[in-house]
Amino acid sequence: MPRQNHRIVYQNVQSQHLREWFAETLAAYPELLPHPIYLRRLPTKYSTMRAQPVLNFAVLRRATRHYRVDFSSHLEVTAHVRVRELPKQVVVGWFAHELGHIVDYLHRPWRGMIAFGLGYALWSRYMRRAERRADSIAVDHGFGEQVLATKRYLINHATLPAHYKKRLRKYYLSADELEALINAYEARGEMPDIVEI
Ligand SMILES: [Zn+2]
Repeated sequence: MPRQNHRIVYQNVQSQHLREWFAETLAAYPELLPHPIYLRRLPTKYSTMRAQPVLNFAVLRRATRHYRVDFSSHLEVTAHVRVRELPKQVVVGWFAHELGHIVDYLHRPWRGMIAFGLGYALWSRYMRRAERRADSIAVDHGFGEQVLATKRYLINHATLPAHYKKRLRKYYLSADELEALINAYEARGEMPDIVEI
């Protein structure tokens, strides 16, 4: 049987290597095969990467809902670094985390997605859990080292604004917590298993 490919729609992504790295990362997520996945570069200076369902005709059908990963071309954490100039490990770790969010959305009905969005926005504990799940899912897909590389890059970067560092500490797993997840993943072998907290 021919290998099935993911359907990827690139929007405003000119960088050939970012396209390739995204496709490579997505290839490790077979549960996303039925879902067209968009990668969109936003023309904003505000650093962000986020994953959301696409609001189109397919959104009401959970089985084939489309999803999109958005990123901005610049990373706010550094004065002059463009995302396309970041090291591969860091970018792949970031993509893997965002795809982790999408896997986490898969079982949620549309009403649940709205509740999830509200919970994410309004309740910091909820947000922390969602970030932890995204990291766990990325680790379970074999991207532990890359997610760790992303985290280290963000934490160690000298020009990271204080508010961003505070946000990272508050909502995201620490490098130590992440390493514990990676060790647990390696100890149990290749069996994908989402760690619930
Ligand atoms: Zn996240």
